[in-house]
Parts: sequence; C-alpha cells; structure tokens
Amino acid sequence: MTAESLARAVARDRRPGPASGPDASRFVNAWVEPESLDGARVRAFVVILRTRGCYWADQKGCSMCGYARDTLGRSATPAELAEQLRRALGRYRDEPYVKVYTSGSFLDDREVGPASREALVRAFSGRARRLLFETLPEFAQEATIAPLRAAFSGELEVALGLESADPVVLARFVHKNAPPSEYFAAAERLRRLGARTKAYLLLKPPYLTEAEAIDDVVRSIDEAAPRFDALSVNPVHIQGGTVVEVLFRRGRYRPPWLWSVVEVLRAGARHRGAARLVSFPTAGGLARGPHNCGVCDRAVLAAIEEASLDQRFEALDGLDCACRSVWRAACRLEAAGVEA
Ligand code: SF4
Repeated sequence: MTAESLARAVARDRRPGPASGPDASRFVNAWVEPESLDGARVRAFVVILRTRGCYWADQKGCSMCGYARDTLGRSATPAELAEQLRRALGRYRDEPYVKVYTSGSFLDDREVGPASREALVRAFSGRARRLLFETLPEFAQEATIAPLRAAFSGELEVALGLESADPVVLARFVHKNAPPSEYFAAAERLRRLGARTKAYLLLKPPYLTEAEAIDDVVRSIDEAAPRFDALSVNPVHIQGGTVVEVLFRRGRYRPPWLWSVVEVLRAGARHRGAARLVSFPTAGGLARGPHNCGVCDRAVLAAIEEASLDQRFEALDGLDCACRSVWRAACRLEAAGVEA
C-alpha cells in the first residue's frame, strides 16, 4: 500500500457519519492552561467547538491529525453553535487570553458561519485581551478578518498550521493541502489586517529520522520567524485514526524524544528573532506522546514549559539524564538504518 492510499483509506474510516454524530449542542472540551501575555504569566481559557471539522481531513488529511473524530459529520447550525458558546461562557472566568479551536478552521463558513463567528468574538470582547483561533491559510482574507476585528476590542491572534517551511516535508510527509508559500502569504495578509500571527511547527512528521526532524524544525523557525509573532513547536503525539498511528502500530514510528524538543528550543532560540518560541507538548511523557526514558520526563517537561513561558532558554542547557546519550546515539545511528 502506498503512503497516499494509506492516507486516503485512514481519512475515509475516521470521521463519524451524520447519523451517528455526537451532541451538536455541546463543545468538545474546555480547560484553562498557563500562558504568557505582554510578558506576564496569565491563565488562558481554551475551548474546542464541535463543527463539521476540517474539509481537508475528508479528502486526505494530515498524517498526524485525528481531529476529524471530534467532529459532527455535518455542519453545526447557528443555534447549535450559539448553545455551545452559551455553555462555554458558563465555564469562562474572565481569563485574559482565550483560544477557540474547531478541529479545523474557525474562518471556514462550513464550520462556523460569519454571524456565529462575530457573535463568539463579541461575547469575549471587553473581557479577554487576546483571542486566538486557528485557520487554514486560504480562509485568512480581509472579508473574514475585518468583521472580527471590528467586533473584538482586544488583539486577534490567528494561528496557522504551517508545520514545516520545507515544501517537500509539508507535501509528502505531513500531507498538507498547500505549500509553505501560501502560509507565508496568509501571515503577511493577517499582519496587514492588524492581527497577530502564530505558526505551529510539527516536530517529527513520519518518514523523517529524529535528527532530520530536529533540523527541519530549526530551519523552519529560521524561515518563519520574520513572518510570525509566535512560533509553537508541536512534537507529534499519536492520535487515533491517523497515518502516524498505523505506522506506530507497525513499529515503524516512535514519537519524538523530549531531548529533541529541548534541542529544537535551544537551537531555535538563536533563529527566532523577535518571535516568541514556545512548546507545550501534548501527551508528554506518555508512550503515544513525546517522551524520554520515563525517569526524567517530568522534569524535562517542566523545564520546557518554564522556558516557553519566560523565553529563557539557557535553563535548558543544564538538563541531563542517562538517557540523553541514548538519544544522541539514536540521532546518529538512525541515519545508518539502525533502530533506536
Ligand atoms: S492538521 Fe489542520 S489542515 Fe491538517 S487535517 Fe488536521 S485540521 Fe485539517
């Protein structure tokens, strides 16, 4: 089976059908997490809305993304989205930073219509200082951004899943729908429209060795830094219903080491320019997430979070554990075809 047919087969199987979909009046999840805003530590309110999800996930989808499983299999109605918002506001405690995700693109009308978008942004206006949402680059246009800028008194931050600045990595290994140049163009448009820009960078797409993956992110930081206000390194964790999960089950994929995250931040700090560089690994320390040996994972994760919040990367220099030499050997030997 080729990688492409594997990707399309996985995409066909993972999304719930419209009849079997979950309750459309309830958001997927909401929580509060530590963040940094204007140099101060703050609490950020995060909510994931339940929508039809990413259109690209229907056609092929990205090799590491299983968010389609959290979607409806049809568009949510404006009334259903309003009810999700009402429930989300019930959990909101005036955190100054709000992040709204949709398992796709907040700016895609099929997921959240223009009136629902404005209602949501307006609901947080005057309460949050910064509101973040994510979108694919083609939806980041003046027609979608301008009404939201008018409806929100604080800063809008738009996140783009750039993943890699290398067109080959992005197309062949991540399976994104657009080349890096479209992400860069969208970031420029967004800045012109007065929005902050954030890029997600993926650490260790399938088919790259550990060392290649580190190089890819550091080079991507270098290229993306002038165009984005923030760069977030997301080490792959194994989500259900993905190409990465199929490879993981076959023993052909190991999630990245936390040492690789440390290395990317240390090296990336020299290339980030004025952009914030952060990493908050999902499922860190777990077998399906980025992990080390199990002994040092908690301490390394805490150091990564501290460095990300304070932008002080020197603190990462002093980390060590017996497994660090295993990671170094893995980086060296994998290129020669030796499994770690
Ligand atoms: S990573 Fe983003 S673009 Fe790719 S399938 Fe998931 S939601 Fe869609």
